[in-house]
Amino acid sequence: QPRIEASAEGPGRYRIAPTGDMRVPGVVFATEDPLPQAAGDQALAQVVNVAALPGIVGASYAMPDVHWGYGFPIGGVAATDVEAGGVVSPGGVGFDISCGVRLLAARCDRAELAPRLPAVMDSLGARIPRGAGRGAVWELSDSRLDRVLAEGARHAVDSGHGVARDLARCEDGGALTGAAAGGEVGRRARERGLGQLGSLGSGNHFLEVQEVDEVYDEAAAEAMGVRAGQVCVMIHCGSRGLGHQICTDHVRTMDRAMRRYGVRVADRQLAAVPVTSPEGEAYLRAMAAAANYARANRQLLSEAARRAFTGELGTERGGLDLVYDISHNVASLETHRVDGAPRRLCVHRKGATRALPPGHRDLPPELAEVGQPVLIPGTMGTASYLLTGVEGGGAWHSACHGAGRVRSRHGAAREIGGGRLRADLESRGIAVRGTTARGLAEEAPTAYKDIDAVVAATESAGLARRVARLVPLGVVKG
Ligand code: 5GP
Ligand code: MN
Ligand code: MN
Repeated sequence: QPRIEASAEGPGRYRIAPTGDMRVPGVVFATEDPLPQAAGDQALAQVVNVAALPGIVGASYAMPDVHWGYGFPIGGVAATDVEAGGVVSPGGVGFDISCGVRLLAARCDRAELAPRLPAVMDSLGARIPRGAGRGAVWELSDSRLDRVLAEGARHAVDSGHGVARDLARCEDGGALTGAAAGGEVGRRARERGLGQLGSLGSGNHFLEVQEVDEVYDEAAAEAMGVRAGQVCVMIHCGSRGLGHQICTDHVRTMDRAMRRYGVRVADRQLAAVPVTSPEGEAYLRAMAAAANYARANRQLLSEAARRAFTGELGTERGGLDLVYDISHNVASLETHRVDGAPRRLCVHRKGATRALPPGHRDLPPELAEVGQPVLIPGTMGTASYLLTGVEGGGAWHSACHGAGRVRSRHGAAREIGGGRLRADLESRGIAVRGTTARGLAEEAPTAYKDIDAVVAATESAGLARRVARLVPLGVVKG
């Protein structure tokens, strides 16, 4: 186990001093000694492995929701210097490329929705495709898939699935530029992508109807379009089989190419090549294509949610206005100051979100003063949060992405039966649609860390600030 100690740099941080092959320290954001929880799942050993990547600058960061992942920990942030041989690693993005969260604000309060809630949940349950391989809101042709890969949520909106304002509230305007055309998205990835656009996927993904339970910053909430008592819809999903296949394909290519570039890694799951190499550039283009697929996916599911709401509440009361859409599995090329000088960095955020501070030029004008909305799902039985980016935010302006798993799917299912869990939730007024008893049990709230503590740790470490707390009214589980 690596040696970890409270950091001198401020509260809420622990530090792993560089030893061996580490090029930078490890920094773990936590309010309590993070060792006991993380020890079991090897996440800290992964923080150490990432600290040895060629070109890494700053530190190998771990968010308060950190847990074990493929190569990189989930909840990990690592930036490499593009012009100094820095590498890009698909393991630092994850298999579900551009998995992310969006929050929509309804035009009604909980009390208004209450009598219609069961019908809204039934309608959502019927409209939202979910599960491993199944269904799609949209059947794609080959040429339409090309447009989705190039234009993301923008193509969905241009095709009538959404309104122009949605795009202003999406990271990157709903589409990453520089997406691959042609061969870099393999045949198998394309095949998997054709039938799955507009679907949730497996059990950790969800569509949840929530109520704004508490507002901590009225002005920020108002700018974002959120108020106490309001009904919201939170959607969590990603790039489905297409993103998974792209990750698989590019890890394989890099595993072979790595040696040619003299890149050595502590764990094969960290396979990486220089950002500026042909393989590195090909990965980033394919990753952007998958990211665009994920963004179109969330846009189409929003459309399905809007139909369910307007179907039950009418076009005015049933409206859903996008608060924001963020990715928590992506690598992005950004300029940051390193030792006082601006450097071009490849920032890997895996199970971590961007948290842009007030005044950042990528924010829409109405959010310029408050900063970027940061969406943090908790669990279907506890709270979720809306945060905002802060001035001087750490880890290249990043924050956590959820509560973070503490128990395996298997372990969670052994602890509580799905039937009892469903009864527990329903007795607390939380409607459940979709999934099997087993699928539900794997996602039991007890499988995750305490979201209130994770968010408090994120705030006290100076990564982001609380704006509002949301509680679940009903969930459609993947
Ligand atoms: P991941 O992207 O790592 O699969 O999941 C992100 C986070 O979503 C998890 O860490 C967990 O806190 C949260 N989460 C998983 N299932 C649910 C759910 O049904 N409802 C809510 N609100 N959050 C969930
Ligand atoms: Mn995902
Ligand atoms: Mn996710």
